[in-house]
Amino acid sequence: MRTTKEARMTALSVAHSPKVVFARGALSQIASEVAALNKKRILLISDESASSHVKKVNDELGSLIVQSVDRVVMHVPDEFSAPIVARAQKNEIDLVISIGGGSATGLGKIVALDAQIDLMAVPTTYAGSEMTTIWGRTRNNQKLTGRDIAVLAKTTIYDPELTYSLPLSISANSGMNAIAHAVEALYAPDITPEVHDAALEGIQVIANGLPRLHADIDDIKARDELLRGSMLCGFSLSNATMGIHHKICHTLGGMFELAHAPMHSAVLPWAVSYNLNFAQSQLNEVAKVLNAPSADIGLWDLANKVGAQTSLKNIGYPLEKSEEVADVISRATFVNPRPFDHHAVVDLLRNAYEGIRPNDES
Ligand code: NAD
Repeated sequence: MRTTKEARMTALSVAHSPKVVFARGALSQIASEVAALNKKRILLISDESASSHVKKVNDELGSLIVQSVDRVVMHVPDEFSAPIVARAQKNEIDLVISIGGGSATGLGKIVALDAQIDLMAVPTTYAGSEMTTIWGRTRNNQKLTGRDIAVLAKTTIYDPELTYSLPLSISANSGMNAIAHAVEALYAPDITPEVHDAALEGIQVIANGLPRLHADIDDIKARDELLRGSMLCGFSLSNATMGIHHKICHTLGGMFELAHAPMHSAVLPWAVSYNLNFAQSQLNEVAKVLNAPSADIGLWDLANKVGAQTSLKNIGYPLEKSEEVADVISRATFVNPRPFDHHAVVDLLRNAYEGIRPNDES
């Protein structure tokens, strides 16, 4: 799995990142960032949680906003995005701004891709999509994803104040979702030193921040740090190839429409357990950062401690479908430290379903 030093240096030179603006109150810089891109006709996309921020953006941008969408649908069904794209083209939109969680960013990306319009992202969760070249959409009930530089935000504005309203349970699950990106980046075949450092720091920052937030929902310094951690994890996701954890979550999300972040949280400890002996040095680094005897136990304990989801049973996964899920995954193309093992994947799903601690497996 190791890349040569030469290959790592080559890969280092192609790391993708938006221009990042990160500060409390940074939303007030939105007009100058739009001006810096020389954009004149804006589509503003927001989710339901962002209505108060939308008012502020409207105040800042005024008549530059010629189209607005204030509702989003997870995984961006074509039926939902197509009319928005058509109208954006008709309106000669030259910048799409998304403000909200990963679902709002996701819609912004599909508009950017289909209408070839630049994107500015203002995230309000820890999903990390605002840092990536990855798009996701649902076509004919099938969840599709891909990578395209056209969906990389030109500018991402991180304003921690926008996350202060995020409920504890969403924060916890979203933080675990972010950690999943960084963990899989660490054992990716194309990891670079730059991404390695970002991933490890991202895990550390979020693993420190979530318990602080759990202890005090008003700890705004913890909020600042969590958002910074999600940026590092999103950067890792964009610049490394993901493994079996993301493949499983993509498959479960597509087949059963499970809630995205809680699903990641429940699957991650067991996906890491699956890879434990095949990416030992990388997962030992994760264990060290988590101050845990092993990475899988550390991740489960973290999720459990902060109230993130540890069980697929709780989010409606039909356990009896595990053989079918493993079959679907076996036919997919992905890179992972441990070769595909049908029985082990079925076991992984059962353990994640039961929500048991890796160390306590019978
Ligand atoms: P989400 O965007 O669906 O948001 C979850 C809930 O939180 C929603 O009800 C939303 O309204 C609410 N919310 C968002 N911000 C809030 C705030 N500050 N205060 C209060 N409520 C708030 O969920 P998500 O986990 O952020 O994103 C999931 C989606 O993102 C999935 O579709 C996933 O596939 C996608 N994603 C894509 C990438 C990528 O790189 N392309 C990476 C990660 C996730």
